[in-house]
Amino acid sequence: MTEGAAASVLLVEDDIATRAEVTTFLRARGLRVTEAADARSAVLAWQGARPDIVVLDLGLPDVDGLTVIRRVRREATTPILVLSARDREASKIEALELGADDYVTKPFSTGELLARLHALLRRAAGPAAESDGAVRLGSLRLDVARHEVTVGGRPVHLTPREFEVLKVLVGHAGRVVTHGRLLRAVWGTAYGEEAHYIHVYVSQIRRKLAAADPDGDLGGLIHAEPGVGYRVMLPGDGDRRTGAGT
Ligand code: CA
Repeated sequence: MTEGAAASVLLVEDDIATRAEVTTFLRARGLRVTEAADARSAVLAWQGARPDIVVLDLGLPDVDGLTVIRRVRREATTPILVLSARDREASKIEALELGADDYVTKPFSTGELLARLHALLRRAAGPAAESDGAVRLGSLRLDVARHEVTVGGRPVHLTPREFEVLKVLVGHAGRVVTHGRLLRAVWGTAYGEEAHYIHVYVSQIRRKLAAADPDGDLGGLIHAEPGVGYRVMLPGDGDRRTGAGT
């Protein structure tokens, strides 16, 4: 989807001032916005409008916003961007575990919200898998069937575990993958002592990508969300940060 191409947004937020500000801002940028002020009307609006993306406040007056995530995920992969209060770290992680794709922490700038929203809409439209099933992100190409990673056509030698970690992160490009999801996907458990080594694997992958791409910025491809997980940035993400820590 191209930038702002009349994508439809369901905005779920009970705070009237925040809702009005975000709605005005998004409409001014050409997005279509449907509003809901509680979880029950959010589910009804979602069923009726089938928006391209859901922007969801977790603290709602009737039931928890997590209920909306469960309901949407029963039927659809529609991107969900969570609005999270700074003091509700646990519910933010739970939201991501339930299938929310990303979050912004209140208070957020409308510019930050728009950047995240566009990243998720782009992600919903790609990254395009090639006809042979390989995935390309900028100069990076990951061939799942052959277990091969190349940068600008040059091979990058990853261990099988490193390959699996990168595969999961690239497969969720533009979205946050929690430590728990990554562990379950690669190691099959979220509770093993392997948890302590995730950052070691990610550091190794970063080092190898940076070495294969000395003039580029692939070393910053994997961004850490401290205490939450990791996010592979899509090419062109406006807020791309590089050289992030673990
Ligand atoms: Ca609220």
